[in-house]
Amino acid sequence: MCSQRVFSVAVIGGGPAGLMAAEVLSQHGIRVDVYDAMPSVGRKFLLAGKGGMNITHSEAQDSFLSRYGSQRSVLAAMLNAFGATELRQWIYGLGFDTFVGSSGRVFPTDMKAAPLLRAWLHRLRDAGVKIHVRHRWTGWNADGELTFVTPETERAIRADAVVLALGGGSWPRLGSNGAWVSILEQQGIRIAPLQAANCGFDSLWSEHFSSRFAGQPLKSAVVSFTDAEGHVHRQQGDFVVTQTGVEGSLIYALSRYLRDTINAQGCVTFDLDLLPHKTPQQILHALTKPRGSASLSSHLRKQLNIDGVKAGLLRECLPVDVFNQTERLATAIKAVPIRLTTPRPIAEAISSAGGVTFEAVNQQLMIKNLANVFCAGEMLDWEAPTGGYLLTACFASGRQAALGVIQRLTE
Ligand SMILES: Cc1cc2nc3c(=O)[nH]c(=O)nc-3n(C[C@H](O)[C@H](O)[C@H](O)COP(=O)(O)OP(=O)(O)OC[C@H]3O[C@@H](n4cnc5c(N)ncnc54)[C@H](O)[C@@H]3O)c2cc1C
Repeated sequence: MCSQRVFSVAVIGGGPAGLMAAEVLSQHGIRVDVYDAMPSVGRKFLLAGKGGMNITHSEAQDSFLSRYGSQRSVLAAMLNAFGATELRQWIYGLGFDTFVGSSGRVFPTDMKAAPLLRAWLHRLRDAGVKIHVRHRWTGWNADGELTFVTPETERAIRADAVVLALGGGSWPRLGSNGAWVSILEQQGIRIAPLQAANCGFDSLWSEHFSSRFAGQPLKSAVVSFTDAEGHVHRQQGDFVVTQTGVEGSLIYALSRYLRDTINAQGCVTFDLDLLPHKTPQQILHALTKPRGSASLSSHLRKQLNIDGVKAGLLRECLPVDVFNQTERLATAIKAVPIRLTTPRPIAEAISSAGGVTFEAVNQQLMIKNLANVFCAGEMLDWEAPTGGYLLTACFASGRQAALGVIQRLTE
């Protein structure tokens, strides 16, 4: 009687992508060892759940796929196979319900990541997945074994295949620090430079402005600008003035285009409409009302409700002579130019762009010139806005890489 060979696969990185790969592999009778540098797995997943775990989005598949921009075509197959619907079913299978918020975003009913992760790890361990924490992967030795550094020792491990799910470069203190970039570059693999995504930006605020208004929100503001490729972006939402610039959901949503325009042109200026519900004529009409001995500041406040950070932005961003010319001021209130000079550092960003290029991997996500080495999650070269798109693509690519391993090993 001959017994079937049991394959052994190393998954390196215990975030959502790596754990999903481990799950799919274990379901196919493969021995799975998950290695992670940190003392526990899923730290960024837990952080993502802090303000409410937005795990996916309920919008129609075509719009959903459009969120991945230029990488839509390479991600479409895996997201069609495992997208929002499948992810919600998978969560249900772990014993949790989900709901759709007013914006179409999908959350677990209790909004939390921790119970979900706990249940998932329990199920993985029951399926025989072994999790090795405090194992920092350092590359391969001359014998082709995977090398790890642990607090006590160095280890070399042989596996039939490996799934790398090492994350991007944001929030490095949670484990994904992008140190893998140089390891893979040494193997001749093309990596698009990691860059901040879903991030804030620096503006050259004066000390006078930032000391007064840092932390002040702008609600339902309308921002518009033309990107380096000539596309006009116009979007309404909320953002916050920070000590050094701007951040918040509206800025994150536009961050890919703002960043790319800065990369191409050195800086980018967006126009902020302080009064999106008023026409320039209505503004002019309000401004030309007699103001008697009142100052312009109190006139703006009384007639147009412009005070606080809005008034501060006018003073900060407009040339002084505009304030003596009512018509110019009326026009400028609908297009306050805010100049951004640099994205905030990647360590502060919600996610990162760049990573292992899709030219370097095949459709199963195996690195073309490293047999049996697969990649998944944020370390691949795609990006998406917040809204659950990041996690969905991490899960989907983890699953895709695992299916690729299975196909390869059983070929
Ligand atoms: C503040 C914040 C909020 C977020 N909110 C959301 C949200 O609401 N919705 C959403 O969709 N996404 C959100 N995200 C993004 C989402 O969390 C990430 O896209 C996702 O966790 C990436 O998954 P991953 O498995 O690719 O990598 P990670 O989750 O980063 O996991 C990578 C793992 O690899 C390990 N690792 C790295 N290098 C090594 C090494 N050399 N050796 C061993 N192990 C290593 C790390 O320790 C880590 O555990 C948020 C992110 C942040 C920072």
